[in-house]
Amino acid sequence: MYPVMLDVKGRSCLVVGGGGVALRKVEGLLAEGGNVTVVSPEVTNPLEKLADQGEICLIQRAYRAGEVAEYALGFATTNDTAINRQVYEDAVAAGVWVNVADVPELCTFYLPARIKRGALQLVIASAGGAPFAVRRLRQVFDRLLGPEWSEWIEVATRFRNTLRKRIADPAKRERSFDQFFSSTVDARRLVVHVPGEKEMEAWLPGEREGPEARSSRWTDTSKSEERQLASGFVSLVGAGPGDAGLLTVRGRQRLVAADAVVYDHLAETVIPCDLRRDVELHPVGKKAGYHPVPQEEIHNLLIRLAQQGKRVARLKGGDPYVFGRGGEEAQALHDAGIPFEVVPCVTAATSVPGYAGIPITHRQEVVTVSLVTAHESSKEGGPQIRWDLLARDRHSTLVGYMGVTSLPQTVEHLLASGMDPETPSAMIERGTTSRQKVVRTRVADLPEAVLRSGVRPPALFVIGPSVRHAEELDWFGSRPLHGERILIPSGGEESVVDALELSGVEVIEVPLPVSPGARIVVSAAPLTGCIFRTVYEVEALDDERDLRNWGSEVVAFCLSKGATAKARNLGWACVEEVFDEPAGVALVKRIGNRRVEVQRNSRMEWGS
Ligand code: SAH
Repeated sequence: MYPVMLDVKGRSCLVVGGGGVALRKVEGLLAEGGNVTVVSPEVTNPLEKLADQGEICLIQRAYRAGEVAEYALGFATTNDTAINRQVYEDAVAAGVWVNVADVPELCTFYLPARIKRGALQLVIASAGGAPFAVRRLRQVFDRLLGPEWSEWIEVATRFRNTLRKRIADPAKRERSFDQFFSSTVDARRLVVHVPGEKEMEAWLPGEREGPEARSSRWTDTSKSEERQLASGFVSLVGAGPGDAGLLTVRGRQRLVAADAVVYDHLAETVIPCDLRRDVELHPVGKKAGYHPVPQEEIHNLLIRLAQQGKRVARLKGGDPYVFGRGGEEAQALHDAGIPFEVVPCVTAATSVPGYAGIPITHRQEVVTVSLVTAHESSKEGGPQIRWDLLARDRHSTLVGYMGVTSLPQTVEHLLASGMDPETPSAMIERGTTSRQKVVRTRVADLPEAVLRSGVRPPALFVIGPSVRHAEELDWFGSRPLHGERILIPSGGEESVVDALELSGVEVIEVPLPVSPGARIVVSAAPLTGCIFRTVYEVEALDDERDLRNWGSEVVAFCLSKGATAKARNLGWACVEEVFDEPAGVALVKRIGNRRVEVQRNSRMEWGS
C-alpha cells in the first residue's frame, strides 16, 4: 500500500448510497472541499438537508452503469453487493479510484483512520486488514494528542516559511528545524509546547542570508539579540570531570546548537553523540606536560570562528573558570569584541572525590576546603601557595589539581609545616569515568603509593580527615561492573541503559549511522563491549572497528539471532547471545559472568 494525501478540493466525488456510512464519507469529503454527488433512491435526513443547503448534489435514483467514470473518486456504500461490485468494476475500467466500504477486495484505495489537529494529521492504516484494531489505536492516539498540536503545527509552518526566506544554506535550516523540534516536543510523552516569537528567534542561525536577511518577521526581537546572532557568539562550556551525565542541561543545549565545537582532551567523553553531523570539530587537547595547541592559538581560533558568524561552543574539562585558563579565553574574547557567555559545570574537586567515596566537607570534621594547583606554584617566580597555613588547619580538606609530578615536594612542604603525617589522603585518577583509579593511604605515604600504583594525570589529590569515609562510602568504584565501557545504539529501551548504569557500566548511546561526535566519544577511552539488537546495528558499527581504543577483545552482546549471526559472520572474535528478558537484567548478569571467567582465565595463565 502506498500512502498519499489527496487534494480533493473542487474535485468531483461520487458517493453511491444514502445511509450512515455514506454520510460519513460525504462529511469527510466536504470538510476538505470536495465536490460531492450522492446517488441513491433513498437518503437519510442529514443528507437531504445537505442537498437542500446546496452543499451536495443529490440524484435520487439507482446507480446507472458506467456513471462513476465521470468522477475523480468513487465510493460505494450500499448494502447491495451487486451494485457495489458494479461501481467497483466500472471505476476500474475507467481508471477511477474506488472504495467499497468494508470490502477490501473491492477497493483500489483504503481510508486510513486519522487524528486531525489543524493541519496536522496522523493516519493509521492496516491495508484494510484489521479496521477494528485501527479504530482502537486511533482512540489511543486521540487521547494522547492534545488540542495544542493544532497551534504548534501552525507555528511550525510559519517558522519554516520564515527560515526559507531568510536562510539559503540547507544544512543551517535543518539545524534550526532540529532546534525547533527538540525544544518544543517531548517525544516520549507526546507533549508539545507552542513557542513564542522570541524563543524562535534564538533558533535562527547566526548568519542571515537571502533577500529578507535584515528584516525580521518577528517584530519583537531586540536589536542587541539580533546583533549577537549575526556576529557569532562563543559559549565557554564546562564539561565536568568526564562522566557524560554530569554535563549541564544548558551546556548540552549550547553544544547541540553550535556550528563549531572547540574541545579539550579532558572533555572528549562528554561530547554529545547527537551533535549535528555537519558541526566543525576542533580538538585542542592538552595532556599534562604536553600542549599540542598553544593557548594563544586557541584564542585566535575562537575569535576567528566567531568572526565568521558562527555559534561556537568551547568545551573545557570541569568548570571553565577553575584552573582551566577559562579566564584568559574570556579576556581574549572580550578584547576582540566577541560576545560570549560562561556555562559553569561541576569542577573536579567537588565531583571526583564524591565518586571516590569522599565527602569534601563533613559536619563537625571539615569546615573549610582549599582548592590548589600545585603546578603553578612549582614554577619559579610564580605565586606561592602558603603550605604553612594549609598544613596546620586540621578541620579542612585540601584538594590539589595537576599535582601528580610535584606530589613528593607538596607532601614534603606540608609535613615540614606541621601537618599530621597520619592525615588520611587519596589520589584519584580519571575520577567519575570507567577508568577511575583510587589510591588511599596516610599522607606521609601518598607519594610512594602513587608511584607504586602507577597513577598518572589527570589526577586529583585529596588530603583531610574526611578521606577516611571512603572506606565505607565507595559507591562508584565498588559497583560490580565498574570499568566496563559499553556502546549501545540509541533509541532502545531506557530500562536497559538504566540497569547497566546502576551496575557500574559506562554506557555510550550512539545514533546510527555513527555521528562524528560519537566517534570522538568512543575513541576517548577503551571500549569493552557493544550491544546489538538488530542486524543493521551490527553492520553500522562494524565499519567503526578501526577507531582508536576499539580492540579485538570488544565483546558483541547480541539480543537477537540475526545480530549474533551477523557479528560472527563479520568476524567479531567475542560474541555473546543474550536472549533472556528483561534484557537489562540479563545483560548485567552476562557481563558479570564474563568478567569472572576472564579473571579466572588470567589467574590460570599466571599460574596462581
Ligand atoms: N577546569 C577543570 C580543571 C582543569 S585542570 C575543573 O574544573 O575540573 C586539569 C586537572 O584537573 C587535572 O590535571 C586533574 O588534576 C583535575 N581533573 C580534572 N578532571 C579530573 C578527573 N576526572 N579525575 C581526576 N582529576 C581530574
